[in-house]
Amino acid sequence: MTLRLHNTLTGAKEVFAPLEEGHVRMYTCGPTVWNFAHVGNLRAFLFYDLVRRHLNVAGYRTTHVMNLTDIDDRILDQAMHAGTTIAEYVKPYEAAFFENMASLRAERAEHYPRATEHIPEMVDMISTLIKHENAYVADGDVYFRIASFPKYGALSHLDRAGLKAGARVAADKYDKESVSDFALWKKAHPEDEKLGAAWDAPFGRGRPGWHIECSAMSKRYLGDTLDIHSGGVDLMFPHHENEIAQSEAANHKTFARVWLHSEFLADATGEKMSKSAGGFTTLRDLVAAGHDPLAVRFFLIANAHYRSRVRLSTEALHAAAEQVRRLREFADRVKRTPAAETDDGELAKRTAEVRAAYREALDDDLNLPQGIGLAFDHIREANAALDAGRVGALNKVALLALIDDMDAHLDVIRAEEPGLAAEVERLIAEREEARRSRDFARADRIRDDLKSRGIALEDSRDGVRWRRISRVT
Ligand code: AMP
Ligand code: ZN
Repeated sequence: MTLRLHNTLTGAKEVFAPLEEGHVRMYTCGPTVWNFAHVGNLRAFLFYDLVRRHLNVAGYRTTHVMNLTDIDDRILDQAMHAGTTIAEYVKPYEAAFFENMASLRAERAEHYPRATEHIPEMVDMISTLIKHENAYVADGDVYFRIASFPKYGALSHLDRAGLKAGARVAADKYDKESVSDFALWKKAHPEDEKLGAAWDAPFGRGRPGWHIECSAMSKRYLGDTLDIHSGGVDLMFPHHENEIAQSEAANHKTFARVWLHSEFLADATGEKMSKSAGGFTTLRDLVAAGHDPLAVRFFLIANAHYRSRVRLSTEALHAAAEQVRRLREFADRVKRTPAAETDDGELAKRTAEVRAAYREALDDDLNLPQGIGLAFDHIREANAALDAGRVGALNKVALLALIDDMDAHLDVIRAEEPGLAAEVERLIAEREEARRSRDFARADRIRDDLKSRGIALEDSRDGVRWRRISRVT
């Protein structure tokens, strides 16, 4: 089994091998905490989670760094309007980011460096770039000299004809069509001091540009060369081109060996969801509308391959919720059904084949939707075998192993609230007690309460059983 990943740099799927055996160094561009993350941002962050999880499945240890951009033009603007410092302004958005990631069950990165806590590293790198004549000071600002880096544009396969030698851009967000010398450092203005957004540097007091933070912080935590660098496609140019230019000009080493870019999430109109464009949806909005965060997770990682665009819709979220429910229902059923006397050998063999095919799909550039599709076909067959009493001890073990394989990426099957099963059993006992004492109103209340949490009770000959149903919203 070999892992192949689509490397934006070469435009091809390549067999993946990290520099250091068994250990992957991965840097992923994190949130700019000027506002709440929208579901599009979350798609990118959950893609990083998928990469990380599959690397772990493939046997690698990962050192994963995701930066928090806590200084940029928008943060300065907003903090000024709010009459506070940038540090105070970003706090609730940073907290909301971690809350989102936890409710979506994204595994934690090893490091979440904040830009404002790594200014010395940025100043060092900028000093080196000035010394190498890859950067110059102009009126207190420092710019990267694009003409000094012939490889510029290699990642996004940019036509360098559009290069405007000497044209300068100081803003963090700018025209994506033209290539210009970009700001590494911006001269401090009096209002920056009040916002707590100015630092001393040998080339003058000021604040860093956006791009330099990723070059400086990745070096600090992962060294000069990364195995994997990842972000959304919109970051490929200019952000990632600029990162390559800064890092390679400063370190004289390859910056990132493999570049992975995940596609956009589109809103209902088919446009790229974006904060600046207005109509964006947050996880909080979806939860308020009755969606389970884990259905959102499933939708974002398993509905489409990471290099395809996806459109957010209520129907798609409901379909994802239904798939999650089917997976949980199946897992519960396999666990709870007593092993049959007869064990279908053919079924066990096919389960092993499906496990291998699932792994193969993930190894093929993280094709989770394909893997899930294969598994769902097999689950239909396994359910029929359960109906027919052909699932013995051997098959149970094989099917549970398949579920575990899937959940290593999905993390929605076993992810029920801790203690759920015990609580359901307790409520069932309480309902039985209520019925014995002829308190039927109370018994019904317990049943309705469970129903609204996606649990249906069924009275059977062997007592009360429970199963998962679509959550009532
Ligand atoms: P930002 O907070 O704007 O710096 O973006 C954080 C991450 O979200 C980056 O990796 C972006 O590429 C990604 N991103 C932004 N908008 C979308 C979108 N509509 N769909 C998918 N990813 C996005
Ligand atoms: Zn970055």
